[in-house]
Amino acid sequence: MHILEARNLTYVYHNGTRALDDVDFIVKRSEIVAILGANGAGKTTLLKHFNGILKPTSGTVLVKGESITKKNILDVRKTVGLVFQDPDDQIFAPTVRQDVAFGPMNLGLSKDVVEHRVKESLELVGMAGYEDKVPHHLSSGQKKRVAIAGILAMEPQVMVLDEPTANLDPNGIAMVVQLIRRLNDDFGMTIIVATQDVDEVPLFADRIVILSKGRMITQGTPREVFSQRDAIEKAGLRLPLIAQLFESLKEEGVSLNTTPLTLGEAKQELLRILRA
Ligand code: ADP
Repeated sequence: MHILEARNLTYVYHNGTRALDDVDFIVKRSEIVAILGANGAGKTTLLKHFNGILKPTSGTVLVKGESITKKNILDVRKTVGLVFQDPDDQIFAPTVRQDVAFGPMNLGLSKDVVEHRVKESLELVGMAGYEDKVPHHLSSGQKKRVAIAGILAMEPQVMVLDEPTANLDPNGIAMVVQLIRRLNDDFGMTIIVATQDVDEVPLFADRIVILSKGRMITQGTPREVFSQRDAIEKAGLRLPLIAQLFESLKEEGVSLNTTPLTLGEAKQELLRILRA
């Protein structure tokens, strides 16, 4: 049984926009899956199905093998935590502490447990010490971390993040990428990330699913997906810059073992070439 699954999922908005068209999607426990696609590909629409914010026009979404119904929706929201793209859509309490406490309080947990979870979650996202601050006075990177802490405090098994690095500065981006990996490494958390950032996605994704015009056009490891040039182009995406550089070296006659997708891979490949 998969922790999350979409079968033949189609979603049509009221104005007739077919945002998702017959999408089949499986997430295994403890996997980091990236949903990669250009603007308007349907990423947000897909994520909103994972915790029942949107209901399929046709098809099914299954969480731990059960389709989402009115009866199990609270359980589903305990299992699957969704971090919105814009923290202002998520943060509304007058202080950081109250904001992060909101979710666990609604789960009916005791005051002590809630306090403990708030503390732990703020520590995990590097925002300990900001408990009494007004969320709307924080920077966008800090707000993003508070929004993530609010979901973490509910201890979901699956964390869904909608473009978590959009509008962040380089430090903010690095912090979010590290956090995604840490939550997965240390807690085995299953993580789904919607993104359009081809340079960043190989840094954290075990698997990439490419969405284009509401359809899932291919999926695989970052290496498999980025070797499918037609699919990348069709989806309005491009290769990571690092890969582009090495591809152009290849055209100049440099013999490569692999096309690196990240700085780390590029360093290994360059060292190999230099030592040869
Ligand atoms: P992405 O997250 O990949 O940018 P979205 O899921 O936001 O894509 O959008 C997919 C498609 O659905 C787009 O064509 C978008 O314009 C349309 N869409 C999104 N939200 C709505 C809405 N509330 N009403 C009508 N169309 C929408």
